[in-house]
Amino acid sequence: MKTFCGRANPTTGSMEWLEEGEDYDYHQEIARSRYADMLHDKDRNVKYYQGICAAVNRVKERGEKAIVLDIGTGTGLLSMMAASAGADFCYAIEVFKPMANAAVKIVEKNGFSDKIKVINKHSTEVTVGPDGDMQCRANILVTELFDTELIGEGALPTYEHAHKYLVQEGCEAVPHRATVYVQLVESRRMWSWKKLFPVHIEAEDGEKILVPPSEMENCPGLPSVCDIQLNQMPSSDFSTLSDVVKMFSVDFSKPVQSASTCYRVQLEPVKSGKAQIVLSWWDIDMDPSGMVNCSMAPYWVKPTSALQWRDHWMQCVYFLPREEPVLQGEKLYLTACRDEYSVWYNLQKARADEEEQKADVCVESPVCRCRAHLLWNRPRFGELNDQSRTRQYIKSLRKVLKTDSVCLCISDGSLLPVLAYYLGAKQVQCVQPSRIDLFHPHELWQAFFKANNLEDKIKIIEARPELLKPSHLEDKKISVLVGEPFFTTSLLPWHNLYFWYARTAVSSHLASNVTVLPQSASLHMMIVEFQDLWRIRSPCGICEGFDVRTMDDMIKDSLNFRESKEAEPHPLWEYPCKSLSEPQEVLTFDFTKTVPQQCLRTEGSVKLLRKGKSHGAVLWMEYHLTADISVSTGLMQLSNEKGNCEWNPHCKQGVYFFSSVIESEILSDPTAVEYAMNFDTKTGEIAMDFKL
Ligand code: SAH
Ligand code: ZN
Repeated sequence: MKTFCGRANPTTGSMEWLEEGEDYDYHQEIARSRYADMLHDKDRNVKYYQGICAAVNRVKERGEKAIVLDIGTGTGLLSMMAASAGADFCYAIEVFKPMANAAVKIVEKNGFSDKIKVINKHSTEVTVGPDGDMQCRANILVTELFDTELIGEGALPTYEHAHKYLVQEGCEAVPHRATVYVQLVESRRMWSWKKLFPVHIEAEDGEKILVPPSEMENCPGLPSVCDIQLNQMPSSDFSTLSDVVKMFSVDFSKPVQSASTCYRVQLEPVKSGKAQIVLSWWDIDMDPSGMVNCSMAPYWVKPTSALQWRDHWMQCVYFLPREEPVLQGEKLYLTACRDEYSVWYNLQKARADEEEQKADVCVESPVCRCRAHLLWNRPRFGELNDQSRTRQYIKSLRKVLKTDSVCLCISDGSLLPVLAYYLGAKQVQCVQPSRIDLFHPHELWQAFFKANNLEDKIKIIEARPELLKPSHLEDKKISVLVGEPFFTTSLLPWHNLYFWYARTAVSSHLASNVTVLPQSASLHMMIVEFQDLWRIRSPCGICEGFDVRTMDDMIKDSLNFRESKEAEPHPLWEYPCKSLSEPQEVLTFDFTKTVPQQCLRTEGSVKLLRKGKSHGAVLWMEYHLTADISVSTGLMQLSNEKGNCEWNPHCKQGVYFFSSVIESEILSDPTAVEYAMNFDTKTGEIAMDFKL
């Protein structure tokens, strides 16, 4: 069987559909899966085990046989816990074939084959009866089907179905209940992920302010969840306006309804401010008493309890439809609406006559009407709102622009053309390569230009760079070619080198004395020790007494599929690490010249200067806008005594996990890591290899 995988080609900036063998998808799925992270989640595992033991005991005390249904068994872990706790029989359901196969092996290796039946089906396809998958309905229901938003992986419809068809009335459920908590906050940083703030531009003829159109101001944004490692958000970046409030609970031992509904709670702000964001997380009680509780609460909620790091469950950031000024002590209603898979929020001021009214009719899930939320994702909004970054671009544009400049900008959804116009370029046009494939943001730009009286001042060329004709440019040669560069199809930092390919494609349109901004780019690398992120790619071995090495091997095979490991993108502001080496420039790319035919290769070694575990290498790009102005999409600052790193908060960096970890000591002769990198100019990809 063949599958087609969509992937952006970094040399053309457009999506390509590649035919891949059936193995490809599966290896990607396993290699990038959260199974390792879940197996390393000690807090979760211990509490599931406690909850499962207690449930089995309660059933046994009633003199019944303990029949377990484990929906989404994965490695089979929860079923093995149940079997060890004395369950009479377990039905372990797993829809993902490679995992179901792994579960069979793991169950066998741990000696539970006679107690656990692995069924490779979606739970809604499972049959009950003498000839069915299950002999009879179960009296214990065990699942772990939750995502950061709790219900995003379809837990509600799965439970609804299981209660109707697969378990007995009055069954024990582990977890027993889930509760969703919320807290109202004001945060310029998080609000900047949804809204475009006015951009201030110091021009020759005074300050210009670029404002978003009104459609954008009032747009509810996107329904997709914004999940982050909230524990990495410093308390100085937000201010809490309310206490933590219970929003809603789901009791998993009773029939569950998945149909859309709303919940409403009353709030009294503890402080006056601008209500912008609802922070949310959940906890699960493993047993009815609530004694075994597994919580995703962030650091400021229970400052004394130890936090378990995990990446498979984080916290949610919800954006209110609009900013609402609130006063300390006033009465507010917060409404959570949900459908089967997602949640969204609304805030209303209580009016006296409304006091007793219940949650009103559900508000529709947020849909972007302004198109900006389709053009820019949340980190991109944050990046465009980053004033110090904008100042760097303004400063460098001011250096290169002249009153007779003919300027072409190549970047997706960029404000550079507007900056260039305000800074005095004579003619400004732009190409937005990746967007041409996806949707036409023309209407958005028209609205944007209109709101700023810029109609007819900036021309959007709807052609790919390689198809540019002299007529697009009014038969003029480009004297200033600019790019951030930023392209929405880029996955890894170096994919934005598409700018170089585009620059090469438009060569014939460039004036002989053209200025290219950025003039060059460089790839940087540093060896790091992660505080926690290493867990997601590290073998687990024995998990709560169960041998899960089959899973470890499977992940290792998938990581080494095609015999080459790849770097993967991670936003490192969410994943603290310390540097073990100096940051090192490894490759440079000269945008004043065209892309060369031959590959760019480099080899070298980095010294490990600090004591620690080398988990991997981090890679990022720096763009040299002019000779003396650079912007980094990776490392922003290094505090030298401890090696703590500060990363660009808007970008993902490339992470290459080493297959074996070495522990370095501080030695007079420090260990060195050898590296080899190859930038293949034909594919735009960078292959790398490390020797420790
Ligand atoms: N129970 C394991 C794995 C949890 S991950 C553990 O706790 O470690 C959730 C698993 O459930 C995934 O492997 C996914 O493929 C599977 N899954 C999700 N919904 C399912 C459903 N309705 N029926 C069967 N499998 C499901
Ligand atoms: Zn919108």
